Amino acid sequence: MSDVLIIGTIALDTIETPFGKVGRALGGSATYAAFAASFFSRPAVVSIIGNDFPEEYIGLMKKRGISLDGVKAAGRTFHWDGFYEYDMNEAKTRKTELNSLEGFKAKVPQKYRNAGYVFLANIDPEQQIAALKQISKPELVVLDTMNFWINHKRKQLVAAIKNADVLLLNDGEARQLFSTISLVKAANSAISLGPKAVIIKKGEHGALLFTKNKHFNAPGYPLENIKDPTGCGDSFGGAFIGYLAKTKDLSEPNIRKAVIYGSVVASHNAEDFSLNRLKSLTISDIEKRYKEFQDIREF
Ligand code: AMP
Repeated sequence: MSDVLIIGTIALDTIETPFGKVGRALGGSATYAAFAASFFSRPAVVSIIGNDFPEEYIGLMKKRGISLDGVKAAGRTFHWDGFYEYDMNEAKTRKTELNSLEGFKAKVPQKYRNAGYVFLANIDPEQQIAALKQISKPELVVLDTMNFWINHKRKQLVAAIKNADVLLLNDGEARQLFSTISLVKAANSAISLGPKAVIIKKGEHGALLFTKNKHFNAPGYPLENIKDPTGCGDSFGGAFIGYLAKTKDLSEPNIRKAVIYGSVVASHNAEDFSLNRLKSLTISDIEKRYKEFQDIREF
């Protein structure tokens, strides 16, 4: 039994930051999200890899208790090549090689179709919609995306957002998608489409949670050593939904706690390349930083 179903990419990432470089390392929105969710609940993934995908990475995911029965293999693995300059809040894409993702049709295995908590992580919005249609009655649907899909499939993305309970976006994407400089206006526009909550991630500056009548501002964690922010948004989303699936409490105060758990796991993720930090992270590291988040908010 899995309690969080994640639809997203499993990728090989080539990444360059001012602090180093990795080639064809383990990445992808579903990978980061599943790792992050696994600290709180049992995630299952629906995605596609290529026949070139290293066995070692499959072993790593299985070791974290991630169920991969919904992962197919065909052709070559999706490859993202990106870099960051000194402003590590903005990933720049050199190349997006969709490869097997191009022909991917989301098929949710029968045993996951009654999933309660569903994370439509960053992937083609048409596949987010297709996957969601196969799930009978989810309690919570969280959706994430990125500029690539805003640019290429805006209409389909808006249709997908209409079916989500919580929308995750970073600040740049929120401004781009809703054609406004104001994040408050962007959040209101998003809520008018259907979601009950919108979370706008602001990289190292924290995250904003908007619900109909309230908003909450989570601080950024003052990280001394940041190496690679790739996957921070996905780890945020994975920990967020993983914590909600564990506690089964969708009240606004508990959603605030989930935002902090998301921020804790995402801040750890930035400390190393690829999944390297999440691989060694423990629940006690998470609880320790959660307490620090409480302390830096006290006045
Ligand atoms: P994040 O830094 O959280 O926004 O996500 C980074 C991850 O997203 C990387 O591991 C990439 O493999 C993956 N990624 C990059 N471009 C796309 C895309 N167009 N669709 C889905 N996933 C992507």
